[in-house]
Amino acid sequence: MNTEQLILKRCYNHPSREAVALCPRCQRFFCRECVTEHESQMICALCLASLQARSQKPSREIFPVIGKAFLCVASFILTWLIFYSFGLGIAAIPSTPFHAQNLGNDSFFSDEDASLPESSP
Ligand SMILES: [Zn+2]
Ligand SMILES: [Zn+2]
Repeated sequence: MNTEQLILKRCYNHPSREAVALCPRCQRFFCRECVTEHESQMICALCLASLQARSQKPSREIFPVIGKAFLCVASFILTWLIFYSFGLGIAAIPSTPFHAQNLGNDSFFSDEDASLPESSP
């Protein structure tokens, strides 16, 4: 009687192998290779795959959207910071004595303007 029951308990995927676990989801017997521990339960690979597909679907749809939005905002802030610091650096440069002197006696450009031929055809 016992042997008959053991023979019945064969792996669903491997009929030649003895079953060691009963999947609580599909109520089938599986060998050690075909079951995986999931949340302190021994479930078969098929049920585990369907469980993971169900649990991963929402997170796969939500996370890329959040990641893209975060990247957009982060890159915008980064670009703004770069241009802002760049602008601050430019604003700090022109009020130096060196530039003020050059603007005072800048005769180079005015001379060139004056020597331009006025009688052009
Ligand atoms: Zn199962
Ligand atoms: Zn098996």
